[in-house]
This record gives sequence, C-alpha cells and structure tokens, in this order.
Amino acid sequence: MLDETADRMRSDGRRLGAARRQVIEALSARTAPVSAEELAEELPTIHVSSIYRSLAVLEEIGVVRHVHLTHGAALYELADETPDSQYLVCDVCGRDIAAPAALFDKLRQVIEKDYGFVLQGGHFALPGHCIDCDPASISRPHPHAR
Ligand SMILES: [Zn+2]
Ligand SMILES: [Zn+2]
Repeated sequence: MLDETADRMRSDGRRLGAARRQVIEALSARTAPVSAEELAEELPTIHVSSIYRSLAVLEEIGVVRHVHLTHGAALYELADETPDSQYLVCDVCGRDIAAPAALFDKLRQVIEKDYGFVLQGGHFALPGHCIDCDPASISRPHPHAR
C-alpha cells in the first residue's frame, strides 16, 4: 500500500513525506472511516494543518476518500478498503453498513435517463434505521435470527 502510494506520488512529481505516510498507516489500521480531528489526536507529533493537507493530497491522487455518515464532518478512509461502497447509517443507533454501490446501479440509470441527472453515490450516507432499532418496519426476517 505504502510503496504503491509512494510510486503514484512520485509519478505525479510529489513525495510521500512522513506525515502522509503516518496518515496512511493510521487509516489502514482503522476498520471504519475517521475524522481529521481523530487522526490528529492519534498522531500528536503531526500538526493538525499538516494532517488536513495530507488528507487533501492523498484524496486528490485517489488513495483516500471521504464520506459523510451523519451531519458531521468528513470522515476519511483508504479508497481501496471499501471500493465503491454506499454507506447506510441508522438514525437511531448510529450504526453504519457499507453496501456495494452496484446495488444502486438500476436507480442510477433511471435517474439519469428520466431526470437527466448523474447521481454521485457514496459521498453521503443514506439515512434510515436498522433492523435492530425498528424491527417491525422491515419485512424480511432478521439476518441474525436463527
Ligand atoms: Zn464531502
Ligand atoms: Zn439502529
């Protein structure tokens, strides 16, 4: 991952500096998207402005992407970790589910054809509630029920 990113940056005339390297390492240790502030707390030796800059550069070259799970700040993750996912987030318990973006292909086609609009999926989570928070509203059997 790091070598690959270093190569990508070099071919772009940039360097993978210490801050950027540490940001990538911190992101790859995570299983869920994280805010720049949380990263700054985790990496106290790097100035917060440097973390923001690193995230911006890494996002520009496609190594990092950000999503908004709630009304809050952007949350960052490695772009390769969850390729083309659409987050679903529960309004009640805050739990998030990464669904494959391909599930929405049909909807995307209809919106494009009928409304002349290209939907940019993935950037914002789709709100709703999970089966645990409102089981009665979901018609299929509970996935954890046996
Ligand atoms: Zn955004
Ligand atoms: Zn829930």
